Formats: sequence, C-alpha cells, structure tokens
Amino acid sequence: MSEQKKRQEALIYHAKPAPGKIKIVPTKPYATQRDLALAYSPGVAEPCLEIAKNKDDVYKYTAKGNIVAIISNGTAVLGLGDIGPEASKPVMEGKALLFKIFADIDGIDIELDTKDVDKFIETVKIIAPTFGGINLEDIKAPEAFEIERRLKEELDIPVMHDDQHGTAIISAAALLNALEISEKKIEDVKIVVSGAGAAAVSCTRLYKAFGASADNIVMLDSKGVIRTDRESLSAEKAEFASSRKINSLEEAMVDADVFIGLSIADIVTPKMLKSMAKNPIVFAMANPDPEIKYDLAVKTRKDIIMATGRSDHPNQVNNVLGFPFIFRGALDVRATAINEEMKMAAVKALAELTKEPVPEQVNIAYGETRLTYGKEYIIPKPFDPRLISEIPPAIAKAAMDSGVAKEPIKNWESYKNELLQ
Ligand code: NAP
Ligand code: MG
Repeated sequence: MSEQKKRQEALIYHAKPAPGKIKIVPTKPYATQRDLALAYSPGVAEPCLEIAKNKDDVYKYTAKGNIVAIISNGTAVLGLGDIGPEASKPVMEGKALLFKIFADIDGIDIELDTKDVDKFIETVKIIAPTFGGINLEDIKAPEAFEIERRLKEELDIPVMHDDQHGTAIISAAALLNALEISEKKIEDVKIVVSGAGAAAVSCTRLYKAFGASADNIVMLDSKGVIRTDRESLSAEKAEFASSRKINSLEEAMVDADVFIGLSIADIVTPKMLKSMAKNPIVFAMANPDPEIKYDLAVKTRKDIIMATGRSDHPNQVNNVLGFPFIFRGALDVRATAINEEMKMAAVKALAELTKEPVPEQVNIAYGETRLTYGKEYIIPKPFDPRLISEIPPAIAKAAMDSGVAKEPIKNWESYKNELLQ
C-alpha cells in the first residue's frame, strides 16, 4: 500500500462511521420507569448516602474502581513532539481502546490545556475522585518526572506515567531473556544507553534495580556522552553520568554487550555494531525508525539479539504488553500505588511467560509457524491470551506483598477465572 493510501485509510478509520474510537454504554437495566427511578432520582440517593457515610463505598456503588483516566497535555505525543492537547486526543482514545479490549478497563481520555506543572498537578488532584487509577501519557520530560512524582505522593490511587514505566517494564523483560539466551549476567554487562529522556531514564533505573552496575553504564543525549565533568546536568542525567573518559557513541560501543536506543533514527553504524562484544544485545527502540535498521543490523552481526519498537520485525517492545494488565492487577486489589515491587513483578511475569509453549492461536494471529523462546522471541506477543490470566495476578500479588493492596485477593483460582471472562 502506498504511503498516501495508508494515511487515507487511517483518517477514514478515525472519522467513520462515528468520529473517534470509544463511547460509553450503560451497564444496568433502563427500559422501565422503575429502572430509571433506581438509576436516577429517587433511587440514586441511597448509594449517595452510603458513600457520604463511608467514602470507600464509592468502589461498591460506582464504576470508579474500573475507570482509568488517560491524561496528557500533548507536549510529547508519540514521536511528533508538542502538538497540543486536541491533537493528542486520538492517541489517548487509542489507549482507551487498548485498555478496554485487553483488560476490560474503561479508559477516559482527558486532555489538559496547560504546560504549567503546578496547574497540571492541581487539576489531576481535583478530578481524581472520579477514577480508580491515573495513566499519565505523552508529557514532555523533565516536567513528566515531577508531575508523576508529586501525583504519586499526593494521591492514594495508582498513578503511572506509561511512557516511562511501560517501556522500562517491557524492555527489562526482554533484556532479562536476551541475557539468559546469550549466557551473560546483568551485573557484568557493559550497557550503552542512547537517549536521556523520559523513556531512557526510567528504563535504566529499572535495569539497575535488576542488578545492572552503574559503573558499566554509559548514557548519551543529543550533546554526546553524559559525563560527570559536564556542566549543568539535570538531576536525572546526573544520576547516570559516567566518570569514564569516553567521548562519543563510537567509543562507547567498543566491547559493549548491550545497546539501548531511546533517542533518534539511524545513529548506530555497522562499524559500531562490529565493535560490540560477542552476542550483542541491541534494543533500537526509537519510533518509528530505530537507531539502526533491523535488516542492516542482523546482516551486520549474525550473533545479534535485536529488538525494536516496530511490529514488522521480531521482538517488538510494545507498551500494550504492560499497561492494561498492570492496571488490571492494581485495580483488582484496590492498590494505593503502582510501586517498584509491582513493576518488577510485571517484568518477571512477562519474562517467564515468554518461555512457556506458545498457544497455536498466537502463531496463527501473527502468521508464524512455531514461535519459541529464543533470539527472535524474547517477549510475548500482544495478542497472547495468556497475558490477561498471568500478568494481573502477578501484579496483584506484588501489591499485596508490598502492603499497598486495600482489597487483597482471597481466592486465586476464582480470580484467574474472572480474568478470563
Ligand atoms: P524524550 O523524552 O524527548 O527523549 C529523547 C532523548 O533523546 C533526549 O534525551 C535527547 O537528548 C536524546 N537524543 C536526541 N538526539 C540524540 C542523539 N543524536 N544521540 C543520543 N541521544 C539523542 O523522548 P522519549 O519519550 O524518552 O522517547 C525517546 C525515543 O524512544 C522516541 O523515539 C520514542 O519514540 C522512543 N520510544 C519507544 C518506545 C517503544 O519502543 N516502546 C517507548 C518509548 C519511547 P537531549 O536530552 O539532549 O534533548
Ligand atoms: Mg506514549
């Protein structure tokens, strides 16, 4: 299909038959006068009174516990940059669609017309009573870091900035598996991170939580290697500054075991790939065009384990493997947060699921004959029906073990069955 045709198809998909991608439907009977008297006045006063007496009953009598707000100000939309709140709405509606189809969560997209950090935070706090959780989305760094940090501190519902943690969780799962396949230890590997934005910082933090050593990490931004002797570094960049006297990406890549790309297209050359250690792991995740093209990379290094953000190659690092299932598990135990323990549980559950035999329907959905754990299959595929039964229980359990679950699961068998419905 020509580029022109593809663009046209996307526009028609969004415009017809009704504009947009989501709508709201009632869940209770509404056919008779009696139904309406229950749904609205006078019947509705009863749950109001109960909730007024005990605020937690809002979870019992309203949809709050299954609604996640997807909130953006449109300042870092996809790879398109600061295109404004209205222009970000298709992305947020798309996220609502994914929440619904993968985890039966009602996502409500909210686009805020402000770049002011305090106003953004204040607004989210004011509307928070409506929601069971908050998915922050496509907000520019460094503002995104502060917005998420403060909202997590100040709200008692799960808050997650998906651009940071979604990518971190999925890529960490892929990394653990890639390391296992190449028989390397996370503590020992030399890691080059290209990019120092929202995604790169959060990914690298999570790899460190899994054992990656600060001494083995070199991070680069648009100005080059982030070194301790560089002036006026942001707090996030200073956290990853290297004291090694490395001057360029080219130098950093020599003998590196892992390359993590969360920057821009085509900055890694075949020569750099050739200089990497044996069995190099290359996650070139810049979207839509990776730091090095897939075909060029696998042609240059036969021993490579490669992942990208794209669906047209093996090993797609796709956030949809994470957020629907993470919020599902968090909502189901009424977690007051999405904490490090829950994120790490998601990583481990995704990594483990990859090693299980793949159901035939997944092979069929992706036109594959035999997906099996190995260099070209280091993370599950989004249409894997086991994600919904495996990932939320892992999150729920981690929430319970770490003390943030207000409604712990009592019967795991029946919880898993509910998830499958
Ligand atoms: P961001 O916050 O805008 O960060 C971009 C970073 O790239 C900045 O730190 C920037 O440096 C750096 N950069 C720009 N040119 C560079 C160069 N030549 N060499 C090294 N670094 C360079 O964006 P983000 O949200 O972190 O996303 C970054 C990229 O990752 C995007 O392409 C995005 O599409 C992709 N991504 C992919 C996935 C996925 O595959 N699932 C998920 C998230 C993001 P300065 O700090 O100096 O400006
Ligand atoms: Mg995003």
